[in-house]
Amino acid sequence: MSAYILVVEDEPDIAALVAYHLTRESYRVRTAGDGAEALAAVERERPDLIVLDLMLPRVSGIDVLRELRGRPELADIPIVMLTARKEEQDRIEGLSLGADDYVSKPFSPASWCCGSVRYCGGCDSSRWRRAAGRCCA
Ligand code: CA
Repeated sequence: MSAYILVVEDEPDIAALVAYHLTRESYRVRTAGDGAEALAAVERERPDLIVLDLMLPRVSGIDVLRELRGRPELADIPIVMLTARKEEQDRIEGLSLGADDYVSKPFSPASWCCGSVRYCGGCDSSRWRRAAGRCCA
């Protein structure tokens, strides 16, 4: 079964763009539009990787991160943050809370892929390496 990636992003255009590129790489992708929805999705099925926007309505990305990293059974899911360039403080906070990497918005598909595939330790590694090779060459 292909790796399952949860994309948490409240801007539909960006969520669709990220989902499109990952689906094309044959990952299974689900999207969540806010932090509460994201946590519910993680409860239903454990993702192999989470792409997490930090600026979300209701429950923020930082709170999602804190919640996931605070729960031993979920703490090792790789998380790539999506941040706008001006949100440097959030990025620093996210990394200090245990996010694995970040991708700055606006981003190119190539930089997005590099940012995610490097850190997907829980996934089939040859699949990720192939994806990384295609995107990061
Ligand atoms: Ca957002």
